[in-house]
Amino acid sequence: MRSATALVIMLSVIGVARLTPSAGAAQTLEEVRIAGKEYARVSDWAKGNGFTLRWLKRDEALELSNSYSTIVLQIHSPDAQINGVGVRLLFPLVQKAETVWISKLDLKSTFEPVLLPPRMRRGGVLKSICLDPGHGGKDPGFQVGSSQEKKFALLFSQELQAQLKRAGWKVSLTRSRDTFVELPSRPDIARRRKADLFVSLHFNATEASANSVKGAEVYCLTPPGAPSTNAGGEGGGAGWFAGNRFNDENMFLAYQLQKTLSREVSVEDRGVHRARFVVLRDAAMPAVLIEAGFLSHPIEGRKIASASYRHQLASAIVDGLDAYKRAVQRGPSPL
Ligand SMILES: [Zn+2]
Repeated sequence: MRSATALVIMLSVIGVARLTPSAGAAQTLEEVRIAGKEYARVSDWAKGNGFTLRWLKRDEALELSNSYSTIVLQIHSPDAQINGVGVRLLFPLVQKAETVWISKLDLKSTFEPVLLPPRMRRGGVLKSICLDPGHGGKDPGFQVGSSQEKKFALLFSQELQAQLKRAGWKVSLTRSRDTFVELPSRPDIARRRKADLFVSLHFNATEASANSVKGAEVYCLTPPGAPSTNAGGEGGGAGWFAGNRFNDENMFLAYQLQKTLSREVSVEDRGVHRARFVVLRDAAMPAVLIEAGFLSHPIEGRKIASASYRHQLASAIVDGLDAYKRAVQRGPSPL
């Protein structure tokens, strides 16, 4: 009898879907179902989008590249890199005989928002950001020795607020003191202040392997029909939430921030992750949550407690937000 956990590949072709690739021409992708999800051949997608495909290590890692982008994928793994930036796929890549399959949801929700960034309507301008310092008041967040996450989240947010203001952004905070703010109130504050973007700021901690686990990860809302990639943070099922209106913007914003954090600060790149956190689910604008480092790591924890390190992290976030803004804003109409 076949194991219930085995991946079942229905070899019959179940349909043909059309994709509008970044190269511009319409493309047909043959689909199969693997473990109940629609998958397409990586080679078909690569060909249709002008990417050259090659094995980095046979049956283990492959690379797709063109003159603009490089994507690295691992067989039977969700770990991927787009232009050197860590990104967790929603579903692991599958290899069956010579063919490598990728979920169509990853093509649509993980690759395309980065390779073909969303654009605002012509004349649209991004100018205001709501920063959300995690936890506060009776909720300390992670506590490691005498270090409380809520304190560093607020100091970090205030540093980022000052730098963003200098860069010309209009900035508000969901809390500016050590006060408790309910989770659903936080995106609502951003909506009432008419913020264009919402950025929640946290620091992480772990009990297991505290001496080795470190680094930054940026979360955006999980697309409907996919599992979240955070451990134990899932909630609210696998359905659609208000924040899913901004799936493309969320992913592209998370990618830009993961990129500048990992390139400009000597922080380990833990990759873009997806989660259905309350503050992301209910956001009425593109939204991300940044876990900027591990308080539980002996060296990283000490760095997070230093104002100069928080300054560096904030500077990388400003650069990421500016890069996002430049990409999504269209220039003035020539007409
Ligand atoms: Zn937190």
